[in-house]
Amino acid sequence: MCGIFGIENHADAANYTYLGLYALQHRGQESAGLVSADNGRFHLERGMGQVAEIFRARVLERLPGRQAIGHTRYSTSGTSVLSNAQPIVVKTSMGPLALVHNGNLVNAVEIRRKLEADGSIFQTTSDSEVILHLMARNPRADVVESLMEALDQVRGAYSILLLTADGLIAARDPHGFRPLVFGDCQGALCFASESCAFDLLGAEPLRELELGEVAVARGGTLESYRRPTGSPPARCAFEQVYFARPDSKVFGDGVSDARLKMGAALAREAPGDADIVVPVPDSGLFAALGYSRESGLPLEFGLIRNHYVGRTFIEPKQAIRHFGVKVKLNPVRHLISGRRVVLVDDSIVRGTTSPKIVRMVREAGAAEVHLRISCPPTRWPCHYGIDMPTREELIASENEVEQIRELTGADSLAYLSIQGMLAGLSGPAESYCTACWSGDYRVEISEEDRRQQQLFPIRLEEGGE
Ligand code: AMP
Repeated sequence: MCGIFGIENHADAANYTYLGLYALQHRGQESAGLVSADNGRFHLERGMGQVAEIFRARVLERLPGRQAIGHTRYSTSGTSVLSNAQPIVVKTSMGPLALVHNGNLVNAVEIRRKLEADGSIFQTTSDSEVILHLMARNPRADVVESLMEALDQVRGAYSILLLTADGLIAARDPHGFRPLVFGDCQGALCFASESCAFDLLGAEPLRELELGEVAVARGGTLESYRRPTGSPPARCAFEQVYFARPDSKVFGDGVSDARLKMGAALAREAPGDADIVVPVPDSGLFAALGYSRESGLPLEFGLIRNHYVGRTFIEPKQAIRHFGVKVKLNPVRHLISGRRVVLVDDSIVRGTTSPKIVRMVREAGAAEVHLRISCPPTRWPCHYGIDMPTREELIASENEVEQIRELTGADSLAYLSIQGMLAGLSGPAESYCTACWSGDYRVEISEEDRRQQQLFPIRLEEGGE
């Protein structure tokens, strides 16, 4: 769960990257970083917290140069500490390199163990660093070749940007788990996780990076190396359900449009005998609108979100997440009182949020609460970059829908089917990764990496109640 942005050959590279990151803040709020390159010299600024807190005007002044890359981070691999904030910058015999990565490698621990046994010293506990180590150990006259050879050794999900002394390289894994688009920004090339970053800059989106593509921007032109891998596409459908911003276009679909369709499909699959449809803001908004239009039930904004509280789930501490629900949402009594409510949310993961929201709506006087979820039950952990690491934590891994309904306290509960969800997307059903719902993992995780993920210390060290 990260956002990446980069720009090449622009007079205001660092400022534009800052703006790009600002638009990608929703993809990670734990830390952010930006590196610029000025005549082969790299300048790095990183910090814990949100983009606007870290990059004050005087910080941006310390980032000269015509190319820059940046990152907003939420850790799925590696702990929440500054040393894990990206970009990761290293010096190699090929010159300085800086990397930002969105995704999660499924054999990073395995590779790292081997490299460490061979004497490598890692700066971070993040999976992304192995790419740089593999490159540093395999220097080539052409840095692109070194990168491609490194990428041939890693498996899993990666959309990456690599800043070199004289250009910017973008690459996407052969399955295309995570999005990566590029565009034209006043003659400069820019790259972003989501197209919403381009809107803010007035940049024109050109296209998505292809699956397995490696593209090099130098002096404002793009040279593309497509490596036909024959790997089946596995675009993360959860980007559309929850993660991406509704004003972005991801994997060829407008995200808001995809959510409207999912909501409409949910209304057809699971109609509710009710008076009003209430979205859980913000993530349930478009699905609720789709549900309302399809069912004919009026949409009411019966829950109001306090926008000054961060996305609760993004906080790595359990204690904050629990507290967060209350400070984040408040019911509008006069809209809800005495009404039978269809409450629409995007997903139930750990199941800590829904019972609180259902209770909140009941306490505001709802006659009935029918909970509708615009994706299937989340039963399996994601190994490809969305934070839901262990099976035990997922409420739907052990419980059937009826048990979950009981736990939430709703009068009825229904989830959207996998087919219903995918029908709202323009690609063929088999081109999406549905692992968190179906358990169908397209890229196998190494045994060592699986063990590490299960033991992973994010919660053990820093969380807990
Ligand atoms: P939970 O209390 O764990 O069931 O959280 C559910 C809510 O958190 C959902 O309604 C989403 O809005 C949000 N959410 C669900 N899954 C994720 C995820 N993997 N990452 C971040 N936020 C999530």
